Amino acid sequence: MTTIATTNPATGEVEKTFDALADEEVDRRIARAAETFASFRTTSLGQRAEWMRAAAGVLDGEADRIGAMLTTEMGKTLKAAVAEAQKCAKACRFYAGHAEEFLAGRRPADAGDVGASDAYVRYEPLGPVLAVMPWNFPLWQVIRFAAPALMAGNVGLLKHASNVPQTALFLEDLFRRAGFPEGAFQTLLIGSSKVERVLRDPRVKAATLTGSEPAGRSVAAIAGDEVKPTVLELGGSDPFVVMPSADLEAAARTAADSRCLNNGQSCISAKRFIVDAACADEFERLFVGNMRAMRVGDPMDESTDVGPLVSEEGRAEVEELVADAVGKGAEVLCGGERLDGTGWFYPPTVLSGVTPDMRMYHEEVFGPVASLFRVGGIAEAVEVANATGFGLGSNAWTRDDAERERFVRELDAGQVFINGKTTSYPELPFGGVKRSGYGRELSAEGMRAFCNAKTVWVG
Ligand code: NDP
Repeated sequence: MTTIATTNPATGEVEKTFDALADEEVDRRIARAAETFASFRTTSLGQRAEWMRAAAGVLDGEADRIGAMLTTEMGKTLKAAVAEAQKCAKACRFYAGHAEEFLAGRRPADAGDVGASDAYVRYEPLGPVLAVMPWNFPLWQVIRFAAPALMAGNVGLLKHASNVPQTALFLEDLFRRAGFPEGAFQTLLIGSSKVERVLRDPRVKAATLTGSEPAGRSVAAIAGDEVKPTVLELGGSDPFVVMPSADLEAAARTAADSRCLNNGQSCISAKRFIVDAACADEFERLFVGNMRAMRVGDPMDESTDVGPLVSEEGRAEVEELVADAVGKGAEVLCGGERLDGTGWFYPPTVLSGVTPDMRMYHEEVFGPVASLFRVGGIAEAVEVANATGFGLGSNAWTRDDAERERFVRELDAGQVFINGKTTSYPELPFGGVKRSGYGRELSAEGMRAFCNAKTVWVG
């Protein structure tokens, strides 16, 4: 049975445990979601926007308290946690302000051309949507689903990761306090073994999952069996290519920031650093210097850059991947050993000489560990960048226009960032290809992901 509990990663102490909901209570909540949907879908966009802006106000107004809760539950630095709450507030305001535009009826053809007096597309909500969410951005991952989905008139059922129950309960409370009707957004405190039961319930119309590949595969298989749409945002092992024309200092600074984002536990962190041989020595010196300079420590401390990993198992997995690579010949340029003391700390680490026989070449490392590759030109850079089953984000640093166009065209990923790092913005669509998942979150695409694009033809 899954334990639903807050365990502080900085101390290893269990701070609070929660009982999972009984099946009958889960059923009551699904029933409430379905009942609420019937009336919620008829509320005006203006009314929903008012509630969504109220949610933004709570997130901004209580960002410090919310941030401390996130840090206690999953170990990200307090400054990153407060910034996450503020980003969520911005997203709520963005969807409040743009829902009308994103949901406006489209007229894809002249009515006369299709023999009609009028013909258009109307975006209608689907109903209760199940959101299975991870612990790494425990607020943002949920809000980036919930803000567009609720604005479109859907209602949400959240099955959050079992190690962030306080954040999960806060999210239900947030939407209630903002004025949304009871049942518009509910949290189900359940273990992952109970997801199938919820997903097969006929009142649940669709699902979204952010998390690992096994979890995604399971949810997609069940949803497929039920013929329910899904959006999957799974792992990533983003390439970060550096060409000789790049601003190497900026590239090396951004590289370290990206790899250490969220204590190294982000799907869109750059993980594989692919550097042209002509600038590899200089980039390596700068990058390793920046990784070494990261301050590892108490996540509540303002000066900390990298807090602990989320759990003992999470750290053990990172250690196994590093040991496998080193055992097969990879060289440790910095880090590489866990830090002594309480809490699940692991230092920023850079490895060179990572080869395809090593697990790290193919798997996502969920900790602050970078692999450095040297390549002889752009063709090899693209080949190594694409030599992965993942396809979430990608990054390329160059000041050469022709190279830039080639990276934009040839990098096999849901998004490509030139002279920057993969980031999710409320304004831009977000998602992956290959084993990183399918479907898009955010922007108009994300809002329409849980809509019925109904074609209307009037004779
Ligand atoms: P999981 O995928 O196990 O957890 C994510 C969510 O899925 C949680 O709510 C979890 O619930 C639920 N879940 C897990 N298994 C199933 C299942 N079979 N059916 C339905 N729901 C399920 O991620 P972990 O936290 O275990 O992390 C493991 C790895 O996943 C990481 O090392 C990383 O590689 C990747 N990951 C990627 C993320 C991303 O942002 N793309 C985020 C988190 C992880 P419960 O907590 O109750 O198990």
